[in-house]
Parts: sequence; structure tokens; C-alpha cells
Amino acid sequence: MEANHLLVTGGAGFIGANLVRYLRREHPQTRVSVVDKLTYAGNRRYLEELIAQREVPLIVADIADRDAMEGLFARSDFDGVIHLAAESHVDRSISGPADFVQTNVVGSFVLLESARRAWEERGIRGRFLHVSTDEVYGSLGPKGAFSERSPYDPSSPYSATKASSDHLARAYHRTYGMDVVVTNCSNNFGPYQYPEKLIPVIIRRLRDGQEVPVYGDGRHVRDWLFVDDHCRALSMVFAQGESGRSYNVGAHNEWTNLDLVYALGDLVDRRMGRPAGTARRMVSFVQDRPGHDRRYAIDATRIRSELGWEPRWSFEEALAHTVDWYLRHMERIWPGGGLSASRRV
Ligand code: NAD
Repeated sequence: MEANHLLVTGGAGFIGANLVRYLRREHPQTRVSVVDKLTYAGNRRYLEELIAQREVPLIVADIADRDAMEGLFARSDFDGVIHLAAESHVDRSISGPADFVQTNVVGSFVLLESARRAWEERGIRGRFLHVSTDEVYGSLGPKGAFSERSPYDPSSPYSATKASSDHLARAYHRTYGMDVVVTNCSNNFGPYQYPEKLIPVIIRRLRDGQEVPVYGDGRHVRDWLFVDDHCRALSMVFAQGESGRSYNVGAHNEWTNLDLVYALGDLVDRRMGRPAGTARRMVSFVQDRPGHDRRYAIDATRIRSELGWEPRWSFEEALAHTVDWYLRHMERIWPGGGLSASRRV
């Protein structure tokens, strides 16, 4: 890690909290501060002992608040930013896109501009890693995978706002010579994911013996990556990525939603000592959602060949670890269950 003091935006969210923990573990010499608005998706509990032991300061602020961001950069000595703060839930972007434009587009702009001005004023060559998604590339047919050269073709307000911020980040490199790198990652899973997202919702419903509603025919394909492998990719791109470049991150691990539900169901049945097949009988099919991309798959050749990254966790091992983690921690971290009641798969 080539930074003395890193600012992690969205560090109290799912990937951010895992990243902060990863950095403290693997790069303890790098100071880490977190800025997070603590929306419904952010939670102090995700970082609780790090905050209590004063290892990681949490600054509660909105990245779209220009005065707050300029003030933060003026009084801090950050020489790197890993930018994860975002509105991230596709279903919410369909029912209420305004927050997505405000945080993902305006917020990313405010952050880029605050960092650029502060670093230019002080003559610091700071690095800005903008964290994005494979959803910017749109949907795939049954074959092929997105490479960094695939055209952007976003389908939802969420992916359109992420695409906008990717373009802004790249433009800051080309226009101002700012040291910017971008990552586009496939679907993540693991601890600390708010229980409106696919895998925690399924685990909770399966645990509670509730119906699991699956969109359409359940044959939508997603490429899944364990969050710890994503965090290692982010740390490697930050340390070694070529300035101005984008890196796709993915594990070549494609699953249909239905097969994923079945795999989780089998694990939950085993952990709860239920007869095999119990969970599979809880699946029901519901009408598909609008603009639902059929398939995403990531070609991660660049990060593998140029930076030597590859996933360390097998999918089976990571999924079992994740199921165990949720069954043990879900009630304490999200008493009452978050918003899982309305979620479909
Ligand atoms: P998340 O929703 O769990 O966390 C987002 C965090 O950002 C929360 O802590 C929230 O409080 C904070 N936040 C939201 N608006 C803010 C604002 N205006 N100012 C400051 N903080 C704000 O999301 P996640 O799944 O951890 O995703 C993190 C990043 O990674 C996002 O940029 C997302 O687009 C990207 N990404 C996610 C996935 C995935 O599968 N989860 C995959 C690829 C890329």
C-alpha cells in the first residue's frame, strides 16, 4: 500500500467495512480514515471495535457536501482516496433515482474536485481509486464477458450513475493529470452486507422458513466474488495499478440466481440440522423486474496478468463462511432484520 493516510469513503458500508478491516490487517502502517453519511446502508457496528479503539476515525458527512469535503481535505493529510460511497441498490434506484444522481454523480464530482484542489495546492501526488461495478457494461447474451474495452451501456439508474462517475474519474486523469485508477467489479458477497441484498435476504428467509421469491425464471446469471478477494484487488490496484487505467475484477464464477438459492438452501439446511431439500421447497417465482440484465460476466485478464491478482477463496468455502457468519451475527447487527421483507431475488 503506497499511501501514508488513506481516506475510505463509504467505509461504514458493506465493501468499505471489509476493506477497512482488510487494510488494518494487511497494511497496518497505513493510516485509514473513513467518511460516511451513515445512510440506511452504513452502520457504525460494522467497524465498532476499530472506532472504539480509535484505530479508525469515522467522519460522518455527505460526500456531496462541498464545504464539508473541502474542509475535510484542508485539515487532513490524505495522500490517497479509495472511493466507495454510493447509493448501491438497483431496486431503490428504480423507485427513487434522485438520491443516486446526488450521491453517485454529484458526490463523486465533489470528492474528485476537493481532492484535486487540495493536492494541487500542496504539491502532493495523491492517488484516487474510484470503485465501480460491471453493471456499467449492461447485459450480456449467453456467451462472452466484459473486458475493459467493452462499451458502456448501463440499464438501470444505478448503473447509469455509476457509469457517469467512472467517466468523471477518467476525465480528471485526462484533463488535470490527476492520478486516478478505476475498478469495475462483479457482484460481491460476504459479511456486513445490508440484508436487502440478494445473499443475506436469502439466508434470512431460508433460516426463518419463509418463501424465497425469485424473479422471472431464476435463470439470470451473475458472476460472484467473495468480498475479501475484492478488497485485495482494490489494495493491489491502489498500490500498483497504472495511472488512468481501469481494471475489471471478477472470479469467473457464474451462477444462475436459482442455483445460488439452492446452494445456499443446502448450506442452511445442513447448519440448522434440517432434512436435505427443505429449503428448496421454499422457492417461488415472481414477475421479473423492468430492465433486469440477463447476464453479467467479467473478463479479469488485465488485473490477473498485469498485477498478478487472483481470487484466493473457493466459492464453496466462501459461501459456507458467509452462511455461518450471517447465522451467527445477523440478529445482533441488524436487530429486527433490516428491510428484507420486501426483497425479491
Ligand atoms: P453499500 O450500500 O453497502 O455501502 C455504501 C456506503 O456509502 C454506506 O455506508 C453509505 O452510508 C455510504 N454513503 C451513501 N451515500 C453517501 C453519501 N452521500 N456520502 C457519504 N457516504 C454515503 O454499498 P457496497 O455494496 O459496499 O458498495 C460500495 C461500492 O462498491 C459502491 O460504489 C458500489 O457501486 C461498488 N460495487 C459494489 C458491488 C457489490 O456487489 N456490492 C460490486 C461492484 C461495485
